[in-house]
Amino acid sequence: MTMLLYNTLTRQKEELRPIHPKWVGLYTCGPTVYHYAHIGNLRTYLFEDVLRRTLEYVGYTVKHVMNITDVGHLTSDADTGEDKLEKGANREGKTVWDVAQFYTNAFLKDIELLNIKRAETLAPATEYISQQIDLIKKLFETGHAYETTQAVYFDVSTFPEYTKLSRQKLSEKKTGVRDEVVEDPEKKHPADFALWFKRVGKFADHIMHWPSPWGDGFPGWHIECSAISSALLGQPFDIHTGGVDHIGVHHTNEIAQSEAAYGKPLATIWMHGEFLLTDEEKMAKSGENFLTLQTLIHKGVDPISYRYFILMAHYRTKLTFSWEALQAAQSGLDKLRDFVRKLQKVPAGMAGESTELNETRKRFTDAMSDDLNTPEALSVVWELVHTYHQRPSAFLANKILNLLYEFDDVLGLRLRDLCEEPIPREIAELAEKREAHRKEKNWNQADEIRKKIEDAGYELDDTNAGPFIRKK
Ligand code: AMP
Ligand code: ZN
Repeated sequence: MTMLLYNTLTRQKEELRPIHPKWVGLYTCGPTVYHYAHIGNLRTYLFEDVLRRTLEYVGYTVKHVMNITDVGHLTSDADTGEDKLEKGANREGKTVWDVAQFYTNAFLKDIELLNIKRAETLAPATEYISQQIDLIKKLFETGHAYETTQAVYFDVSTFPEYTKLSRQKLSEKKTGVRDEVVEDPEKKHPADFALWFKRVGKFADHIMHWPSPWGDGFPGWHIECSAISSALLGQPFDIHTGGVDHIGVHHTNEIAQSEAAYGKPLATIWMHGEFLLTDEEKMAKSGENFLTLQTLIHKGVDPISYRYFILMAHYRTKLTFSWEALQAAQSGLDKLRDFVRKLQKVPAGMAGESTELNETRKRFTDAMSDDLNTPEALSVVWELVHTYHQRPSAFLANKILNLLYEFDDVLGLRLRDLCEEPIPREIAELAEKREAHRKEKNWNQADEIRKKIEDAGYELDDTNAGPFIRKK
């Protein structure tokens, strides 16, 4: 099976060729746990979940690692501003550790509600401090790091490929964007980024800190992903993902650190999910348009409808959030669920061989293997619904249901969970007998059997294509 994925590094779709024959290594940058995730962040985690599910669907075993940024990194992506976790702690009057734990739990709850599979390993940055220090040491040994009185930096001038992911000009790279920030005068180049912050100057009272060869302090944000990914997946590994905002700074810096230290690629394929916008603006944790999954739930939205809404757009296109669009997604999903419920009521055990759905399966798989084309995959699902919505024969109904369940391993809409009580075998047999009488135009016998079915607590619905049985 050929799996095509868009690689930001090469700006083209490429065939996935796993490094290890038996598994695919997938690293996804995880949440900074100082606040709830907003629904924009959740869009990125949904894209990554669909990627993972698709890889598993086509037969790969996926080793999935996600970091949890509990060290707290500074409020802007550049190394400036106050610490995010401390900001959260001050806001809530808790310790930074409490804040990290609280929002980690909130994040896990959100992803469960969205039916996002948990990474096999969730790696809190604070549990990988020694690996981060080791990597910084390695960068000193290889001549890529230097120390000032305030911090340790990566020297971008020593890594000519520094902008290969973003394709920006180094001179255009934004750094130190905020006025109140005191720039480090000992920094050699404005684009040099921090590997380690010392607990001095404005960070003298920093709450989270660890000893290091460069004094007490705490790691820069980017180093955790480099250290954790190679510790758990090796270097290089197959796929690294995140939102598009990570291209210019965070992933650029991860590549610089890991590749400068070890002289080999960090990851083969770099994939980035486009942003969710509200009224054409990006959703930011500081902005007023900050919507969480809980906000949606309080407004009566089923989290799986949000998942469905996200699947309707390709992950590489910008998507504007609106309540109307979400509502439309919810009614689409309701229709799909109705169809599935109908099929679930057809008694099992009537499945026969049918090859007519193989083409449908192929089209679905082709869509997903072509850089996760979820809109196309959903249109295949809808064709299936429209073709058979009247009522398929019983054995075909079972086939369709199983195919939808199979697709749902990728889409994650929890279609299996809709299942209500199965129709008992004897009721199904009565319905079949009645159908035979109707064909023979034995209306009295047919009516008698209908009564028996109704007395047993079931209802019969005669459709063009035959009877549907429903519990009263
Ligand atoms: P953070 O917790 O800020 O590190 O963000 C978590 C993930 O969400 C990262 O992969 C970001 O790239 C991504 N992200 C941030 N804002 C948005 C947005 N508006 N739409 C989609 N993804 C986003
Ligand atoms: Zn990362």
